[in-house]
Amino acid sequence: MIDTTKPIAVIGAGQMGRGIVQIFAQAGYEVRMFDAFPAAVEAAPALIGKLLDRAVSKGRMEQTDADATKARITPINAISDLGTPALIIEAATEQVEIKIDIFKQLDKHIEDGGILATNTSSISITKLAANVSNPSRFVGMHFFNPVPVMKLVEVVRGLDTSDETINDTVELAKKVGKTPLIVNDHPGFVSNRVLMPMINEAVFTLQDGVADAETIDGVMTLGMNHPMGPLALADLIGIDTCLYILEVLHRELGEDRYRPCPLLRKMVDGKRLGRKSKRGFYSYE
Ligand code: NAD
Repeated sequence: MIDTTKPIAVIGAGQMGRGIVQIFAQAGYEVRMFDAFPAAVEAAPALIGKLLDRAVSKGRMEQTDADATKARITPINAISDLGTPALIIEAATEQVEIKIDIFKQLDKHIEDGGILATNTSSISITKLAANVSNPSRFVGMHFFNPVPVMKLVEVVRGLDTSDETINDTVELAKKVGKTPLIVNDHPGFVSNRVLMPMINEAVFTLQDGVADAETIDGVMTLGMNHPMGPLALADLIGIDTCLYILEVLHRELGEDRYRPCPLLRKMVDGKRLGRKSKRGFYSYE
């Protein structure tokens, strides 16, 4: 198990990367974070700090704990500055080429026997692991959005992931307050194999003019008791991320039922990415 005396690192300072940084820093880990887009990594500590300050003002956290958490976060400007952490979690954009390139670089920066983990939503753990020297210490650690709130971590076993790595990852997930569930490597794992076809169908329903976004979401919240409608959820996840996941499902499973809805693609082309761009199926201005 990786104890809190060892630093860890997170690659990608988007909505997921920031959440992962926050929960590990809260659990006592020194966390280094990197993003290929310098403005993202520069903005991240203040964005995380705002969430911690809100927790203090709501009485959910002591000021001293919030300050200690902030002090454990170190933004890094280059992967070469990472040192050799005992755990590196990759949470960059959901594109296989980007992730392979990152892991080829990270391979030189992981402590001997350390764990390389990916937060991918759909991409093959086995394929990513084939780019590092020790695939037995490679694992999927799939967090959910928003990371500080959602309980689940899908722990994904690649073809070569060892039992020891699975056990260590399960313990790590518990240490940061999550509930791990172990699944096998297959496109979309369990979560997105089941969720994304529903979101895609909701977008087709909108495209076909069956109802507007509020009505489609209303049917699913009021009629199916879902806490959030599928279009609002797509906005939360990121419409680009939904498209990339559906492309993986469609390509890897080869079935028409996973074909991304053209409207989803059009939204991404128009940079309507959901909450992160302030415009998706709903407006967040
Ligand atoms: P995001 O768009 O908010 O952030 C992605 C970040 O990756 C951006 O800041 C981008 O600059 C950075 N990046 C791109 N290329 C990079 C590189 N070469 N090196 C370092 N950083 C790079 O996306 P997100 O929602 O945070 O998703 C990140 C990952 O987490 C994806 O794999 C996604 O599938 C997965 N995920 C997302 C959700 C969700 O609900 N959004 C849930 C679980 C898992």
